[in-house]
Amino acid sequence: MYDPKSSCADEFIDNQEILDTLEYAEKNKSNIELIDSILEKAKPQYTDKGTFCAGLSHREASVLLACDIPEKVEQMYKLAEEIKNAFYGNRIVIFAPLYLSNYCVNACVYCPYHAKNKHIPRKKLTQEEVKNEVIALQDMGHKRLAIESGEDPVNNPIEYILECIKTIYSIKHKNGAIRRVNVNIAATTVENYKKLKDAGIGTYILFQETYHKESYLKLHPAGPKHDYNYHTEAMDRAMEGGIDDVGLGVLFGLELYKYEFAGLLMHAEHLEAKFGVGPHTISVPRIKRADDIDPSAFDNGISDEIFEKICALIRIAVPYTGMIISTRESQEVREKVLHLGVSQVSGGSRTSVGGYAEDQRPHDTEQFDVSDQRTLDEVVRWLMEMGYIPSFCTACYREGRTGDRFMSLCKSGQIQNCCHPNALMTLKEFLMDYASEETKAIGEELIKAQLNNIKTDKVKEICRDHLEKIEQGIRDFRF
Ligand code: SAM
Repeated sequence: MYDPKSSCADEFIDNQEILDTLEYAEKNKSNIELIDSILEKAKPQYTDKGTFCAGLSHREASVLLACDIPEKVEQMYKLAEEIKNAFYGNRIVIFAPLYLSNYCVNACVYCPYHAKNKHIPRKKLTQEEVKNEVIALQDMGHKRLAIESGEDPVNNPIEYILECIKTIYSIKHKNGAIRRVNVNIAATTVENYKKLKDAGIGTYILFQETYHKESYLKLHPAGPKHDYNYHTEAMDRAMEGGIDDVGLGVLFGLELYKYEFAGLLMHAEHLEAKFGVGPHTISVPRIKRADDIDPSAFDNGISDEIFEKICALIRIAVPYTGMIISTRESQEVREKVLHLGVSQVSGGSRTSVGGYAEDQRPHDTEQFDVSDQRTLDEVVRWLMEMGYIPSFCTACYREGRTGDRFMSLCKSGQIQNCCHPNALMTLKEFLMDYASEETKAIGEELIKAQLNNIKTDKVKEICRDHLEKIEQGIRDFRF
């Protein structure tokens, strides 16, 4: 029985509700009147008190996903871009993954780290190696990481993850610092989520992989991850443990994308209904080739066009949620989805354990092939050439603007007043400390132009003052 407030996965991700949604969407996919009313509902409302967006329910968004009338799809893309600009402006947050260990006891059939893969070398970073990775990442200019690990209670227990987080935050190399560590590790207990919270993590990220329970059980035939309900209810436990920024995701290609899309939005609705705050981010990975993994073995791969449509509709349905695109995607695809609502990109990524310090590719512990192999400097330059402001800001998290506090600021449109100047200042730090001459020249011009776009004089003045201090080598701001 469908109940978005329920604590039971079978009720908030109710299979019958998804099937009914897909039927309703199919029936209405050419219902212009309904489609227009849904698009109208999703439009941003610009008021004196800020900009507001109503978002869409999983049913409404599924109708748009089913609709393939070119003119309407075009409207969806325009709307996604408008919403993105209204809430995120032209800022794009930058991060990198850091792989700690590929020891894993699970049997995920799409992942090269599965326990039965005997030819992939197993590696777990020592604290000295974590330090070397972090120094290499800081030397690129990174400030925000997402740590990744396989699930193995003996080799990678929670104590190991906590020790790594402590090491990461402790390293201050030259002007570098990792200011936000997001964590992508297997579903765990409330007690362990509390420990992660106490360690000062940013977002807890866990991909559902697939919302289709029957497929999930087959795709995860053994190990703790086999337990669909435990996995699907992980975000509830994370929130109970005090982590109020959680990141959802689906691994597209495993199941029918329309099913996954509805499930993903129902999961977001569940968090909103139960905790009063939806997911902080949504990731949209697609299966990639990897050691022992051939993506063509999975029947539900999606085209770039469908992928783009999914990104646009996530932006429309959950307007306040950040959307993340990794280097699994090519430069070309990343470029397209940036216009459709993506707000965070990774750059210069290595998906191997120890890949930053060793700096070799391909690396034998790589989790999957990276499509976008450009350096961080190239990614930053590319974003700026398209008119985006690459942002290394982590101020919200550091100032306690997480969960519902972040969402209410975002909903009132206020976030722009702090994010825009902070983005410029952290970009300035990057340009001064890490950028190539070419990137620096483009960036300085961009900052000058963007500074003039700040509407409030007081904010402009503070920003100009901070930029000057950064220019003089002063680096004591809390971004
Ligand atoms: N062990 C944790 C877990 O089970 O959730 C962390 C996961 S792993 C390091 C991060 C994500 O990579 C997985 O959740 C999965 O969606 C994705 N992944 C695994 N194999 C992949 C592949 N072949 N191509 C693309 N993404 C993959």
